[in-house]
Amino acid sequence: MNTKYRKTIVAGNWKMNLLPSDVKNYSAALMKLYGKNHFCEAVVCVPALMAIPMLRALRGSKIAVGVQDVSAEDSGAYTGEISAAMLADAGVKYVIVGHSERRRMHGETNAMIAKKLRQVLAAGMTPILCVGETLEERDGELAEDVVRLQLRSALYGLTGLDMRHVVIAYEPVWAIGTGRTATPAEAQQMCEGIRAAVRKLFGARVARAVTIQYGGSMNPANAAQLLSQPDVDGGLIGGASLDPEKFYQILEAAKE
Ligand code: PEP
Repeated sequence: MNTKYRKTIVAGNWKMNLLPSDVKNYSAALMKLYGKNHFCEAVVCVPALMAIPMLRALRGSKIAVGVQDVSAEDSGAYTGEISAAMLADAGVKYVIVGHSERRRMHGETNAMIAKKLRQVLAAGMTPILCVGETLEERDGELAEDVVRLQLRSALYGLTGLDMRHVVIAYEPVWAIGTGRTATPAEAQQMCEGIRAAVRKLFGARVARAVTIQYGGSMNPANAAQLLSQPDVDGGLIGGASLDPEKFYQILEAAKE
């Protein structure tokens, strides 16, 4: 982390877990733990259905609400989709874009992800752009090329000003939900490479200010070491964010 130049952001990703009836207890527990001490930006990315109850439940706290996906389109005949304008109007602040589960299971391409990212920015929210390689790609020494391509196709054409509102999450696919975490050195190496790619596209000032999270089986036991890396500015947390106590412990690890 480098809190002098950039924001530390720790975001939970509930994925398709918990129920609307769990929102009250979860938010009360998290607010009790995190209400007063504020170490970093805390975000809970819930299923879209739970965004409004979560916003209500967290009112008065500094914990932000995010969701996990958005439509690539503005509005119209897109049954089942939720637009960026709808989310922003409800008060949502963050949207995960390009999560590997959506790339893999829902056929999301780099081009679709680029459109979604622009929708989120146009609506005044912050996209958390997920990038990361599969195990085959890492074993084939393609990890850096894959991540660079994912970054370039999502970010190409944005302005430096847009980039002030973009968060990048490095999530090696082989570490997500597997219990296998990248070592702090592996996480640092790729996050440093991501910052270098942003520097190439947008210049040194933008690169210095961009928040780059690590995601992939981060938990209370490994968070402090991962977050102590100079280019790791936070975490995107799946499994461990479902328990407010564990999520809080990770937030606490982001204390300098
Ligand atoms: C994720 O879903 O983005 C993630 C990192 O999950 P987990 O922490 O469970 O590996």
